[in-house]
Parts: sequence; C-alpha cells; structure tokens
Amino acid sequence: MDGTQQELTEAITQAIHGEELASTTACDICAQPLDINTPVQYDVMRFSSEAKRRLPFSSHSWIADAARCDDCTIQALGPTTQWLDEALIKVNVTESGGIPLIDCTDIRIIDVSPSNDGYGPPMVDLGMVYRRSDFGLFRWMRVREALRRNPPSSFEWCVLRECVNQSDDVPPSVSRLIS
Ligand SMILES: [Zn+2]
Repeated sequence: MDGTQQELTEAITQAIHGEELASTTACDICAQPLDINTPVQYDVMRFSSEAKRRLPFSSHSWIADAARCDDCTIQALGPTTQWLDEALIKVNVTESGGIPLIDCTDIRIIDVSPSNDGYGPPMVDLGMVYRRSDFGLFRWMRVREALRRNPPSSFEWCVLRECVNQSDDVPPSVSRLIS
C-alpha cells in the first residue's frame, strides 16, 4: 500500500468506522435485504473544496453513501462526478445492541475517483437532498440508480429528470434513461 492509499484508508476509517448503516440492513441501490454476515461493498464520498465553496454544505469528511448487496456489487466506479471524491470499498458490518455498524478494521479499497475526475456535477434538487438527508444525490451514479428504480410516472422520477435536463454534463448512461 503506498502513502496516498494509506492516507485515504485512514481518512475513510476515521470518518465512518462505527457509523450506523444508512438503511439498516437493506441495499441502498435495489432495497433488497443485505447480508451483513459477509463483507459488504460500500460507496463512500467526500465533498471537494470546490463543492464546499458553491454548495450550502460544510462536510469535510468522508460520508458512507450506499451499501451494495451481492446483486449490486460493481468492479469500478462510474459514471463518476466532479467536485466529489468517491471511493468503492469493502467493509465488515458488526452489530451492537441490534444496530448494524460499519467496521473498517479490514477495510479494502477497490476503486477511487478524485474530485477532478468524471462528469460535471448534476444540478440536484436541494429540496430533495434535504428531505431525504441524502448527499449521495450529488453523485451521477446515484441519480442513475434512482432513475432506474423509480417508475417514470412517479414525482421523484420527474424531479430527477428535471435535474438532469438542467445539468451541463450528462453521462450518456443517464441521458439514455430519460430520452
Ligand atoms: Zn442491491
């Protein structure tokens, strides 16, 4: 492990070790039950200084964004988003008093995307982010999954489509979903 990788591992561990799982024991991509007896793949994110200047948020540390069940496991991040550091990791889940917690003791980093890499950020509906307390909606990967998961007749899908339409730099795999 080189110095940068070591630093990254430490920063992520410091931020999310012992955190409760975002959706207790459901996959954050497809919502099916998550097997927490084996290591779980997790998307984590951090706002860049550019994002912090422009967005009404001040989070400086890594955020556990989305747990992936076996069906939703991926090999690499994509489409990635500028303004965000993103990482794909694998961690254990331990239970404390019936509450599932992220355990970074044996953390493995599978892929990393720095904030200067990827597509320009989506023009997110801030109301939706606040309502759902879901910073992951600033990521193209999560916008794409949300468009796939919600029926086009739903309010949420329409709001997301509007956000995509107002964005300057839309990944092809996202624009295909709304055309
Ligand atoms: Zn899943």
